[in-house]
Amino acid sequence: MTRQITILPGDGIGPEVTKEARRLLEDVAQAVGETWVLEEALIGGAAYDATGQPLPPETVEKCKASDAILLGAVGGPKWDHLPGDVRPEAGLLGIRKQLGVFANLRPIRTWPGLLLASPLKAELLNGVDMVIVRELTGGLYFGEPKQRLNGGDAVVDTLYYTRHEIERVVRQAFDIARGRRKKLTSVDKANVLESSRMWREIVQSIAGEYPDVTVEHLLVDSAAMQLIQRPNQFDVVVTENMFGDILSDEAAVLTGSIGMLPSASLGAEGPGLYEPVHGSAPDIAGSGVANPLASFLSVAMLLRHSLGLEDVAQHVEDAVLHVIESGHRTRDLAGQGKESVGTEQMSALVRSEL
Ligand code: ATP
Ligand code: MG
Repeated sequence: MTRQITILPGDGIGPEVTKEARRLLEDVAQAVGETWVLEEALIGGAAYDATGQPLPPETVEKCKASDAILLGAVGGPKWDHLPGDVRPEAGLLGIRKQLGVFANLRPIRTWPGLLLASPLKAELLNGVDMVIVRELTGGLYFGEPKQRLNGGDAVVDTLYYTRHEIERVVRQAFDIARGRRKKLTSVDKANVLESSRMWREIVQSIAGEYPDVTVEHLLVDSAAMQLIQRPNQFDVVVTENMFGDILSDEAAVLTGSIGMLPSASLGAEGPGLYEPVHGSAPDIAGSGVANPLASFLSVAMLLRHSLGLEDVAQHVEDAVLHVIESGHRTRDLAGQGKESVGTEQMSALVRSEL
């Protein structure tokens, strides 16, 4: 089968980690005996420098025509002075919008061997393995009106959702739960918010289509506590935009390292967008020390969700696990003064493990 994957290297360490992720994709394509067309396109500051736009139309076209998109990171001090609509971050928001990706998936798991990197006690962290599914295109961040009133003495933001918007992200979460441990936790604030009461009703009614999935509802304040007190109880968590924004950053702390966190943004159809959670890390860009594993784990998600290659995705994750277990660390994982490997070496270790 021919698959087309667009790689958007972006800025800072983006090109360094996607270069290795590309090597991984090439290895995987060869192993499964398929022809994969891997093409690069410009986004972010790199695109602005070359074309004057953070998201050139050619990039959008290429992305829309592909099966999946792998992004590095965008942004950096070089472009901070630019007006909002041409800043690198506008490129990222733009491509998400163009692709209509409404579900943001953030897997959070702990890695035996890396537990010390977390601020929480190791016994709380054993077996933590969850996916937070955050609604990405609606809710408080986009609802109108959103403005100052009464000459600046009052203000309004609007939490607006249509039934369709809630249903599609909830279905996505049920499907993901079905492919995992079959437990779905829906997080809301149904004791005070009307939007949350409708959210809960919709989850209840869709639950009927997934009798094999166990559903529970948690209030967001309680979920925030549970994530720290008993994080290993969660399998798939689904929630609206702002709750998901906050909870996914909270949960990310459990893993102890931003260099190990992948993400995926999915729509109903069309290509998914995969990217590490970390930014362009201008402080280490160009020095060959960036951890490529968040990108590798994003590739695993790409294989799983866009190419339907669950087994291969699992192999990639296992290879990462083995390399960590055998004690190899990039600088961000090693800690001060400890021995570490660079970006290329970490990449080679994982790929040879495959
Ligand atoms: P953004 O605004 O794009 O989120 P940021 O500056 O808030 O960017 P990052 O770019 O993710 O956040 O960097 C935060 C810190 O984590 C920096 O010190 C950076 O060097 C480090 N870091 C981020 N990603 C990696 C990585 N893949 N490997 C090693 N260190 C990393
Ligand atoms: Mg940041």
